Amino acid sequence: MSEHFSCPGCGVTSDDRRQHCPECLTAVHEIDGARMAPIAVAVPSEGDWVVVHRCELCGQLVSSPARGDDNVLILMRMAVRPLASPPFPFEPFGRL
Ligand SMILES: [Zn+2]
Ligand SMILES: [Zn+2]
Repeated sequence: MSEHFSCPGCGVTSDDRRQHCPECLTAVHEIDGARMAPIAVAVPSEGDWVVVHRCELCGQLVSSPARGDDNVLILMRMAVRPLASPPFPFEPFGRL
């Protein structure tokens, strides 16, 4: 894996060693290089939000910490989505 992040979802690149895309929150599974779509946010009792991703190849769930420059709209959508949508859409948000 290279040092910089290149988003397989929207094409954003960052020199930062971040775990997911700040724009669409897509991540890359380090094990198999597959795309991981964001499916949920979780809020630990202490600390920052984490984004939960599911690998589109192997189905593994991986979480990574939300960051200050993440797309707040997507974070908020994921926070409220379980109330409004059926479970397990594969591409929850499409292209923004
Ligand atoms: Zn992206
Ligand atoms: Zn995988």
